[in-house]
Amino acid sequence: MNAENDKDALRLPCDAPALDCDANEALRVACDAMCGGLARWLRVLGVNTAYVRDIEDSALVRQALAERRVVLSSDRKLFERRVFTTGELAGLFIPVGLRLADQVRFVAGRLKLPVGFPRCTLCNGELEPVGRAAVADVVPARSLIWVREFYRCRECRQVYWEGTHWRRIGALRAEIVDMRAAGSAPETTPQK
Ligand SMILES: [Zn+2]
Repeated sequence: MNAENDKDALRLPCDAPALDCDANEALRVACDAMCGGLARWLRVLGVNTAYVRDIEDSALVRQALAERRVVLSSDRKLFERRVFTTGELAGLFIPVGLRLADQVRFVAGRLKLPVGFPRCTLCNGELEPVGRAAVADVVPARSLIWVREFYRCRECRQVYWEGTHWRRIGALRAEIVDMRAAGSAPETTPQK
């Protein structure tokens, strides 16, 4: 599969600064089955984010325990489980009704997310730069001409390049970086 065929795939903001690349190594999160959109954005921000579509809560908890991940969910009942009430497992409740960008701001503020180099939005793998020739068979000819940098996921081999969504992604990344710098709490707007 390549990014051009996946209209929902977020494109990599190649010009975005890679900040705190090592600082976010420690923080790992696991999104529940309902938080797929949030998971993709967190991966764009460079956060090590586990997300499995349709994952059962019990499997999610097992994975989070095994990999020491903070669980993100809008399901209050999930956090009533003993592993959370005893503090064995950390979790963050995402308020219901937040728009996606506000979910990202909320999580970034609460977890004081460092912004790192984007990870693969599809599988959470690390991206590595690759040469133009290596991606010529998957990147459309027009993009091959004007795009300067290409990246490939080490895990699923998905190829990324500067695409049509990169400005929007870059803007939110920059906002989270600024929020970190200012140390301010995020402002969130409940969805009407
Ligand atoms: Zn991947």
